[in-house]
Amino acid sequence: MPRTGETYDVIVVGGGPGGSTTASYLSRHGLKTLVVDKATFPRDKTCGDAISGKSISVLRELGLHAWVEREPHARADGVVFSAPNGYTVEIPFPKKVDPAKMKDQREHRYIQPGYVVRREVYDNILFQFAQKQEHVTTLEGFTLTDLVWEGKKVAGIKGKHGGKELEFRAKVVVGADGALSKVAEKTKAYDFEDKHHDHWIGAFRVYFKDVKGVTDNIEIHFVEGLLPGYFWIFPVDNGMVNVGAGMIETDLRKPGKDGKKPNMKATSYELMKSHPLFKERFAGATEVPGTYAGWLLPCGSERRQLSGEGFVLVGDAGGLIDPFSGEGIGNAMVSGKYAALRIAEAFQANDFSAGFFKAYDERVWQALGHELDTSYKLQQMGRHTWLLNLIIKRAATKPKVREAISDMLADREKKEELAGWWFYVKMLFL
Ligand SMILES: Cc1cc2nc3c(=O)[nH]c(=O)nc-3n(C[C@H](O)[C@H](O)[C@H](O)COP(=O)(O)OP(=O)(O)OC[C@H]3O[C@@H](n4cnc5c(N)ncnc54)[C@H](O)[C@@H]3O)c2cc1C
Repeated sequence: MPRTGETYDVIVVGGGPGGSTTASYLSRHGLKTLVVDKATFPRDKTCGDAISGKSISVLRELGLHAWVEREPHARADGVVFSAPNGYTVEIPFPKKVDPAKMKDQREHRYIQPGYVVRREVYDNILFQFAQKQEHVTTLEGFTLTDLVWEGKKVAGIKGKHGGKELEFRAKVVVGADGALSKVAEKTKAYDFEDKHHDHWIGAFRVYFKDVKGVTDNIEIHFVEGLLPGYFWIFPVDNGMVNVGAGMIETDLRKPGKDGKKPNMKATSYELMKSHPLFKERFAGATEVPGTYAGWLLPCGSERRQLSGEGFVLVGDAGGLIDPFSGEGIGNAMVSGKYAALRIAEAFQANDFSAGFFKAYDERVWQALGHELDTSYKLQQMGRHTWLLNLIIKRAATKPKVREAISDMLADREKKEELAGWWFYVKMLFL
């Protein structure tokens, strides 16, 4: 058990996908790392549990892919979309990605089929793996309350553990402490008081058993009452599904035509009871007690500061969630990998300044920025019910449109075509 006053090369606050990935890569660079988390693993995390191909690329690199396959999981071989007008289309993820394409120099360009894994399972795999790595020490049940400063530079952390105040020091502190990151708050890298609600999504998830018609597809339903946003049904393990919905905070605060603010929970439960697409499927289903939970998604449609004097932020702490799909696990893992690389370079250069870490921000935005911008455009397009109706109807009735969308969903670069007017003109002639 780490003792108060100890010094490490790096302290990682948070052992979720972002923090555990950072620690595992830091170990490869031989850096003495302490990972602290307020929870004790395995722990739940409110999520849709969809693990995209981007996460799988990092899992493969760490040698963790087979571990996930051994644990309870569901496959996500494709996606079913439904439109507000009721049209439904199934778009498969391409089964095999050409290995030559995988070598594309822009990393993580091609999307592979993914998994759905409960976060209690998935995050535990990543945390246990990090814990086993050389040079990595972990401390669970430690809640960060403050940072230690040397002048303007972050030099460590303070927090509570079993009623005791502990303090640890390090050359670099990594904020991987999620959406309401204390590290981001204390370093003033992000102003939570003045946050822009357009870039935050509010969402909930709940598990159900015995829902009918569940396949190896994840399901995204654009339905009245939850626009702009969507209702999802994701298959999990042991006959369970993860059901949830998410909407942009600005819209959650805005009264609708009836003068009332949207109520995602009430609308979603009503959908399950009476919507033609869901009522039969949920008729004999039971809610798994105690699993309803809501949380926040800070989106990468806003480019935040990701580092400063003696610190870097990864994953949700840096607000890196995809604003269209709501995926944040992959970006948390990818940013963790880049953070570890820049930190290793900082040790080589013996430079822990904000100027040195700036290259980390640049690397992240170079790798993820374009995709996040495209997703923001798609999110905005999702405000137009007529457009959703048109695309999904065309895709449902025209195999060529389906293929074109499948191709675009598989290739992050082509995905941007979905956000451009030319695709919609072409679609009318396919
Ligand atoms: C309802 C919902 C559905 C979602 N669905 C999906 C999905 O299907 N697929 C997807 O890819 N993403 C999804 N996301 C986003 C995804 O959950 C996050 O992007 C992801 O968890 C980010 O990982 P992280 O490691 O940055 O943070 P987290 O997973 O939040 O981990 C942060 C860790 O920090 C610890 N911590 C926090 N504060 C402190 C403190 N003060 N001291 C010590 N430890 C602390 C926490 O205990 C936690 O373990 C969803 C989010 C929500 C809310």
